[in-house]
Amino acid sequence: MRAVVYNGPRDVSVDEVPDARIEKPTDAVVKITATNICGSDLHMYEGRTSLGAGSIIGHENVGEVVETGPGVYSVQVGDRVALPFNIGCGFCDNCTTGLTAFCLTANPPTAGAAYGYAEMGPYNGGQAEYLRVPFADFNALQLPEDSVDRENDYVMLTDIFPTGWHGTRLAKLQAGETIAVYGAGPVGLMAAYSADIQGASQIFVIDHLAERLALAEQFGATAISTADGDPVEQIKGLTGGVGVDRGVEAVGYQAHDSSGVERSNLTMNALVNVVKPTGGIGVVGVFLPEDPGAKDEMTRNGHMNFDFGKFFFKGQTIGTGQANVKAYNRQLRDLIHRGKATPSRLVSHNLGLADAPEAYQHFDARDTGWTKVVLNPTR
Ligand code: NAD
Ligand code: ZN
Repeated sequence: MRAVVYNGPRDVSVDEVPDARIEKPTDAVVKITATNICGSDLHMYEGRTSLGAGSIIGHENVGEVVETGPGVYSVQVGDRVALPFNIGCGFCDNCTTGLTAFCLTANPPTAGAAYGYAEMGPYNGGQAEYLRVPFADFNALQLPEDSVDRENDYVMLTDIFPTGWHGTRLAKLQAGETIAVYGAGPVGLMAAYSADIQGASQIFVIDHLAERLALAEQFGATAISTADGDPVEQIKGLTGGVGVDRGVEAVGYQAHDSSGVERSNLTMNALVNVVKPTGGIGVVGVFLPEDPGAKDEMTRNGHMNFDFGKFFFKGQTIGTGQANVKAYNRQLRDLIHRGKATPSRLVSHNLGLADAPEAYQHFDARDTGWTKVVLNPTR
C-alpha cells in the first residue's frame, strides 16, 4: 500500500510500504478515505520528536472497515467509521472513566497512545491507503450515511473538533461567559466554534495571520491581531478593563513573537494576564516534554518560564492535555448530522496522498491559504 513516510526533519515521501493487517483479535483494518494533516504532525515533521525514519504519520482518520479480527463484535465490514486520534483499550482505569487520551494499556508505561505520533506508541499512522485499528469495537465511531458526502465535516471528529471542545471544557466555560482563544490554527478555530455553540457571549481569537483571523470571525469570534499591539491590552480595551472569564491555549510551545522568535511562555503568560481572577484556562496546544529542536535550553527540557505566582494570586484554574476524543465525538457527530455544526468550513484543500510532501511544506510554513489539508488516499 502507499503511505506518507517520515524520513527526517522536513522530509516526508509517499512510499510503498507493507499492507496494514490484523495483528490482534481485537483489531480491524480500515480503508482510509480521508486523513488530515494536523498541527501535531508538525512536531514530528520538524524533527522535534523521537519519531524514527520510516514511520507512517497521520492520526485524523476516517474510512471504511474492510477486515475485522475474530475478537471484534460490533464493528462490521462495510461500516464507515471515524477514528479518534487516541487509541484506548476501553477497560483500563482511565478508559473506563472517559479519559481515553490517557489509556494505560495501549502504550505502557506512558499513559496515552495515538496513531503515527512519536512518544505515543508503536502505532502506524493513517496517511495511507489502509490502517490497523486496535481495540476496534471501542475506538471506531459509526458514521451515518451522509458521511459519504459530508466527509470534510465528519473527519474533524477524529481530533480538532473534539480538541477545540475539550479546550473549552478544561476552561470550564459556561453559557453567557466570555473567552479568549490563543491561536487561530485549526484547533483554535474549533475551540472558538465550540464556545459559540455552547453559548459564549463573546469570543476573542488571537493570531497574526489575517486569513485565519477572518475564518475565526466566520466561526463567531472577534479577531484580535498581534500585529495591532499587545492582545491582552486590546481585549481589556474591549471589555471595560475586565478581561475574559475563560481562556484556551491552542498554539503550544511553538508560540512566537512578532519577530518570529519562538517563546514558549508567550501565550500562557498572556492568558494568566487576560483571564479574570478565578477564571479557567484550558491548554490544548502541545508542550513537549523534550524538544530537541528548541533554540533555548529551558524549552529543550520541556520547561518554561510561566508566571505561576500571578496565576496563584488570581486563583485561576488550569486544565491541560491531549483531548479525550471519545468523550465528545458521539455528540459532535450528531450535531453535524442534524446540521447544527459544519466544521468543514476551515478546510482549505482536499488532495491526494501524492500531494502530501507539498502540503506538509505549505502547512508547516503557515502559507496563506493552507489552513487545513484533507488527504483522500482513494483519489
Ligand atoms: P497550528 O500549529 O498551525 O496553529 C497554531 C496557530 O498559532 C497558528 O495559526 C499560529 O500563527 C498561531 N500563533 C503562533 N504564535 C502565536 C502567538 N504568540 N499568539 C497567538 N497565536 C500564535 O495548527 P493546529 O492544528 O491548530 O495546532 C495547534 C496546537 O494544538 C499544536 O500544538 C497541536 O499539536 C495542538 N493539538 C493538540 C491536541 C490535543 O489533543 N491537546 C490535538 C490536536 C492538536
Ligand atoms: Zn491532530
